[in-house]
Amino acid sequence: MAYTASAIYGAAAFDGGVDGLLPSDPSFSVTPILVTLAIALALLPFGPRLPRRWLAPLGPLGVALIAHALATTPGAGDGAVLYMWPVLWMTFFFGRRGAMAVIACVGVAHAAALLSLPAASSYPGRWVDVMICVSVVAGVTLTLVHRNEALLSQLAAEARIDPLTGLLNRRGFDERASLELAHARREDRPIALAAFDIDYFKCINDEWGHEIGDRVLARTGELLAAQSREIDVAARTGGEEFTVLLPGSDGSDADAFTQRVRAALAASDPSGLPTVRVSAGILASDTPTDIETMLRGADTALYRAKRGGRNRTVTIRAGRVLH
Ligand code: GH3
Ligand code: MG
Ligand code: MG
Repeated sequence: MAYTASAIYGAAAFDGGVDGLLPSDPSFSVTPILVTLAIALALLPFGPRLPRRWLAPLGPLGVALIAHALATTPGAGDGAVLYMWPVLWMTFFFGRRGAMAVIACVGVAHAAALLSLPAASSYPGRWVDVMICVSVVAGVTLTLVHRNEALLSQLAAEARIDPLTGLLNRRGFDERASLELAHARREDRPIALAAFDIDYFKCINDEWGHEIGDRVLARTGELLAAQSREIDVAARTGGEEFTVLLPGSDGSDADAFTQRVRAALAASDPSGLPTVRVSAGILASDTPTDIETMLRGADTALYRAKRGGRNRTVTIRAGRVLH
């Protein structure tokens, strides 16, 4: 933001300098050019360290310098086009309020500049032209800013979703789960983590093909979401591995949840997909720790479920293994 302002002020100083060198241009005050150049240079080292709101006056200051340059240049020049720069900058970085503030500044400063000029070059049409132009520039910039923000938030949401199942991916899970854990700690509520792994999924791929394997994963995701409550955090955290954080649930609630999921997955599917068995590991905690520790605990329980013959749930609570 500070560098953009520096570049704009630098471009304005360059423009003024070039105008000064052109032989047929009218003579004008060099003060705005020198001030502009000094601001451009000072912004390079100091600008990035300043708080955002301290940079905001650069917009109105730019407007004042442009108006001063217009007021001290004889004749009806094209210098008013430079108002676009502070308007663009303020609108982009300070949104609707920045746009309204800078347009108001242009209205006042440009009127004052025109009134100070001889009557022949200060007709009202010049003011109207400028005001319409800066308003259009601000409107278009605001639209682009909003579209940009919408796109960014859509991308941020998509970066946290697994496209095959529509559940959260590992990144989305970590973020949501950390929040839920913090709530559980603050409210001193129990919390459980259930890790699921489809049994012999490689065989399903081998026998039915990868495409059917994908559809089975999508169905697993659907059933997990259907069995979860709104506050649960369900995610696909690996190829055929799923994780659900269950805030407020103790070991037996979580066990009942995994049994429901396993029963739903084992029931025959109307669209003819192969049914699957899953193993589940639960880590139930009355004093929630961090998500990594909980995942490790649930993984240990899952490993025991696999070792114990698969298609079952193993729960670990307070360091004790419960079957
Ligand atoms: P276990 O009971 O020990 O869990 O056996 P398994 O066959 O389920 O486990 P293994 O880790 O040997 O194989 C997992 C398979 O999951 C292998 C891999 O090809 C498959 N897989 C991983 N991601 C996907 C995916 O996105 N789509 C499909 N169709 N298959 C996947
Ligand atoms: Mg696996
Ligand atoms: Mg597996």
